[in-house]
Amino acid sequence: MENNCIFCKIVAGQTGTELVYQDEQVTVFHDREPAAPVHLLIVPNRHVTSLNEISATDRDWLVQVMLVAGQIARQMNVHESGFRLLTNTGADAGQSVYHLHFHLLGGTQLNRLGWRGGGWPGN
Ligand code: AMP
Repeated sequence: MENNCIFCKIVAGQTGTELVYQDEQVTVFHDREPAAPVHLLIVPNRHVTSLNEISATDRDWLVQVMLVAGQIARQMNVHESGFRLLTNTGADAGQSVYHLHFHLLGGTQLNRLGWRGGGWPGN
């Protein structure tokens, strides 16, 4: 647990944020500023700042992120219509929370590169 990390606090159940899923390795909750009708965040319980910080020892929970993404997509009923899993790394990607997280987006036609600069609900 990293001091003052909002996602560490959510993982620890200290914020009152509704958890969609949690196991020993990952936690899933709704993004508070959804960029699509379905917009969830899948985060490792362990504090890792970004993909820049991972190594082969993180293999287990990284695989778990993928498995849980498939499961949550089905639960949210976007598995057939389609969905996107993405992670922003560093300034150029617009990373704003430095606890690694994967956005699961779906429920509408997504623009090709991500959501900034286009997509739902605006421009
Ligand atoms: P990124 O810009 O890729 O770092 O994504 C950070 C995401 O976290 C943004 O989409 C925010 O809306 C979301 N976010 C920040 N704080 C919270 C919070 N307390 N609960 C839910 N989502 C959050």
